[in-house]
Amino acid sequence: MTAPHPIQYVKGVGPRLAEKLASRGIRTAQDALYFFPKGYEDRRRVVPVRELRAGMTVPVRGKILSVQGTGRGFRGPRTLEVVIADGTGRIAAKWFRFHPSLAERFRVDDTVTLCGTVRIFRFFPEMHHPEILHGEDAADPVHFGRIVPVYPGVEGVPARLLRKIQWEVVHHHAEKEHEFFPAWILERAGVPPLHESLAAIHFPRDDADAASFQDFSSPQQRRLVFGELFALQWALARRRAGAERETAVPLPWDRGIVDEIKRRLPFELTGAQRRVVNEILKDLGKLHPMHRLLQGDVGSGKTIVAWIAAMVAWRHGVQVAVMAPTEILAEQHYRRFASLSAGLPARIDLLSAALPQKEREAARRKIRSGETDIAIGTHALIQESVEFRNLALGVIDEQHRFGVLQRAALRRKASTAPHLLVMTATPIPRTLAIALYGDLDVSVIDEMPRGRVPVRTRIVPEGERRKVFEAVRREVGQGGRAYVVLPLVEESEKLALRDATRTAGRIREAFPDVGVGLLHGRMKAEEKEAEMRRFKEGALRILVSTTVVEVGIDVPEATVIVIEHAERFGLSQLHQLRGRVGRGSRPSFCFLMVGDAQGEEAAARLSIMERTTDGFRLAEEDLRIRGPGDFAGVRQSGIPDLVFADLVRDAGVLQVAKELSEELHRRDPDLSSPGHAGIRSFLERRGDAVAGPAG
Ligand code: ADP
Ligand code: MG
Repeated sequence: MTAPHPIQYVKGVGPRLAEKLASRGIRTAQDALYFFPKGYEDRRRVVPVRELRAGMTVPVRGKILSVQGTGRGFRGPRTLEVVIADGTGRIAAKWFRFHPSLAERFRVDDTVTLCGTVRIFRFFPEMHHPEILHGEDAADPVHFGRIVPVYPGVEGVPARLLRKIQWEVVHHHAEKEHEFFPAWILERAGVPPLHESLAAIHFPRDDADAASFQDFSSPQQRRLVFGELFALQWALARRRAGAERETAVPLPWDRGIVDEIKRRLPFELTGAQRRVVNEILKDLGKLHPMHRLLQGDVGSGKTIVAWIAAMVAWRHGVQVAVMAPTEILAEQHYRRFASLSAGLPARIDLLSAALPQKEREAARRKIRSGETDIAIGTHALIQESVEFRNLALGVIDEQHRFGVLQRAALRRKASTAPHLLVMTATPIPRTLAIALYGDLDVSVIDEMPRGRVPVRTRIVPEGERRKVFEAVRREVGQGGRAYVVLPLVEESEKLALRDATRTAGRIREAFPDVGVGLLHGRMKAEEKEAEMRRFKEGALRILVSTTVVEVGIDVPEATVIVIEHAERFGLSQLHQLRGRVGRGSRPSFCFLMVGDAQGEEAAARLSIMERTTDGFRLAEEDLRIRGPGDFAGVRQSGIPDLVFADLVRDAGVLQVAKELSEELHRRDPDLSSPGHAGIRSFLERRGDAVAGPAG
């Protein structure tokens, strides 16, 4: 790398402007090179006024017909209006709150070029605050006759000046950004070299496709996206390769245990369940640790799969840990595992923070001594004070609540690398799965147990609440259960609690003869557990709850879910909530209540919920609407912020980056060949560990 060139010494900058630029983080010419346009204007050709349409951002050129101040302000006219004509029509340019010197720049009969966005006002075209190109400016290749970059604003630096500075920077410094990817990688990725890309991103060539630059999909922009995604995938490729080098205790299945499991299955497995069980059992038999992600929509039956894996491991006399994100879920798993294994000498224990100190101590002791075969619990399982005797399989349920760090913590609980099965009900769009879990193999349960009737979903405006209550009354009257779910108020747990309490009160009034329960985040685990049990057993028929019911709770009798302020939830989250019902064979209902103020816009966004129950489709839609940052779990996952890449737009680049990073890792895992010095230092600069033992 060459020495940094302070921005101050770029032609036309100097100390005063340098300071302003520094406020945007631009201190060197290199910083400026990576300060990208936020958009582009196609100024390759002047457009005749007659061809103007609202929304076009183009140059027009004409003779000045009039220059006029209108509207009276305290210090003279408020609006400057300049009308020009080009022989095909006229257009007005308007400046609101202008400096008097602006008017002096226009003289009737002069020719002027204006660049701006066309609006139509009373049938006539106009532009507000267009860029003015007079005389020689109109011939300057920086501002005209090309696709022109539009930069994010830098305070104290006029847009035109900034463009000029960038022009200087590009012409004198882009060359120095040497390409570090080997030619075969660039070729396979279909992107041009770095210096060429940087130059074109600032000042696209005349024959470029302006639209592709505008939506950041030109090959030159993809070069930057590719570099970023490659770095991300390189880290995952290393992790994956690291796991392949590690050895684990092989846990092959045998006839005996398989027959035992089959005898105990309370239902026939679906085809998808059988397939994923096969994939998992195959992994477990290997000498290398399994790192597998099991994706399956809510209610698709992941728990039984986990139990089967646990039983196969148990047969070998090793320990299994099953980690759930909440106390309620851990206890639910514990009871299910216990009943499925009843009569077998498998010792299953629960470790939960909710247990009294003494019992917790005892549970930890049993795990340490190996008395416990299958330990089920919350994150309490990965606390430092917990030691396993011979942990060989870890199951993490509902991964989106846990991140990479938790996975690593569980792994450290074993002296030999344990097999890991990570389960999630959040359907993860494929691109996101690659970005987040590229180091895991993926199994998908894409089939529901037979006999499920799809949940019927309706968006309901506040005014029609009565109808919803009637449906609740009907279902509850027939022995069903109903959930009423409230959004979490992030700013204040107190507020959320007040909302929940008030709603519960209202519902008790509306249903005086029915048991109504309340579940919220402030309750102790055992209180929650007790309330859930009363609901499950039927002493309570309606459960009002904040989003704590979201994950994994299984009450087959529940046939209605009412979601208040549905507009505040993401589609994936609504889908998770909806999955609380429709678990039995009776038809179920989901009502999405939308506040009157939110009205139609919210209803439009949510209407896809009425049309599909396919979690993957909803997840893709969520990703498209809200971006990955909002996507469940992305923030906790340890994925770095992406500057150039957009996981929705750049799905194709991501796939290529994954393949090429894996290939490079196979060819030169330490990047020690001289040809890879550049890429090595690029990865190091990004702060990624490049080689050596995988973390
Ligand atoms: P999730 O994948 O959301 O964790 P669960 O494992 O809790 O789903 O299963 C949901 C419900 O479906 C449970 O009541 C479970 O007993 C039942 N179930 C799972 N697999 C089958 C199957 N193959 N046939 C019938 N019912 C099943
Ligand atoms: Mg589950």
